[in-house]
Amino acid sequence: MTEHLLKILVVGDGNVGKTSFVQRYVNGQFNKSYKMTVGVDFSVKLVQWSDTEKVRLQLWDIAGQERFISMTRIYYKGALGCVVMFDVTSSSSFLSCRHWKQDLDSKATLPNGHSIPCILLANKCDLAQRVVSAESINRFSKANGFLTWMETSVKDNKNVGEAMSVSASTRGSSV
Ligand code: GDP
Ligand code: MG
Repeated sequence: MTEHLLKILVVGDGNVGKTSFVQRYVNGQFNKSYKMTVGVDFSVKLVQWSDTEKVRLQLWDIAGQERFISMTRIYYKGALGCVVMFDVTSSSSFLSCRHWKQDLDSKATLPNGHSIPCILLANKCDLAQRVVSAESINRFSKANGFLTWMETSVKDNKNVGEAMSVSASTRGSSV
């Protein structure tokens, strides 16, 4: 059995659902109480990749307030994939995705020099008061070099596993 280590970053503004997303994926739970992440949270999930391969997924959940400080360079180091998340009810969290992507691309690359594959997640799609349209997300995603984008609801467990599968599968082309 071969085991690969795969570091994936989860970035985005505070309160968009990053910690909930990681906890839902790793522990299968959704917790409604809001506890702000300080610095970085680190979770691991062992995934059976095929009959002969396992992947140890390392999820780095970065606190939103770290956005423009030099620390992000250290968090990004060695990552092979990235999830950039925003909240569909917050246009400012959507606007920040450009900064998150630029921050990542300016500070880290894959070992082969290519940019780290990123997917864009439009979270909280269960909420009625959404302010960011699918059309603008689509346009933004293409213009900023994301692999793809998806609507998620960590609350309703919509597309959480799917988003992580897409993220994890990018490693084949990257290493
Ligand atoms: P983080 O700061 O990005 O890590 O965000 P958290 O994971 O701490 O979540 C912030 C708040 O949003 C919490 O109160 C969560 O319960 C809530 N939340 C997270 N995901 C969803 C979702 O898909 N739908 C709804 N309605 N609330 C969510
Ligand atoms: Mg958090």
